[in-house]
Amino acid sequence: MAKLYFYYSAMNAGKSTMLLQSSYNYQERGMATVIFTPKIDTRYGVGKIQSRIGLNADAVPFDSTLNLFDHVVATKAKMDNLKCVFVDEAQFLSKAQIKQLTEIVDKLNIPVLTYGLRTDFRGELFEGSQYLLGWADELVEIKTICHCGRKAIMNMRIDDQGRPIKTGAQVEIGGNERYIAVCRKHFAE
Ligand SMILES: [Zn+2]
Repeated sequence: MAKLYFYYSAMNAGKSTMLLQSSYNYQERGMATVIFTPKIDTRYGVGKIQSRIGLNADAVPFDSTLNLFDHVVATKAKMDNLKCVFVDEAQFLSKAQIKQLTEIVDKLNIPVLTYGLRTDFRGELFEGSQYLLGWADELVEIKTICHCGRKAIMNMRIDDQGRPIKTGAQVEIGGNERYIAVCRKHFAE
């Protein structure tokens, strides 16, 4: 039976690296995969996913209008050996899109592996993460540590001077320079 997985973590825990490695493992065995990545994330170009250690792959860009189930049905019609679906930055999916992922698993029997942040820089759940936490078959935490050595579970947004920012839009794409992963204690301070 296929399952829906949510691999969640704070920023910079190596999620994209894990996704790319897993996808590569399928392809190495002659099995095709589909990778979705958010359209708003253009750090490496639209429809590109890249990890900090240099792995990269082509991906299907999504915004809130893309029906992931319909896209996978159409892809499977062309690629009979489609065996796994991956979603990068899955916190940006809508509730309806998480429902579509459950249908890919339950109706098409294709495993779906999603990777994303649990909470935003205010400590609030993202919509996509909220429903993945609620509906995924398997929740897997990817652990990373705060500068103090405790487990980092929060994402602090910082300005270019390294000072914490407490307000602003939930979605602001950036890499190492914009966010740091910290433990709950240092987030509160
Ligand atoms: Zn700490």
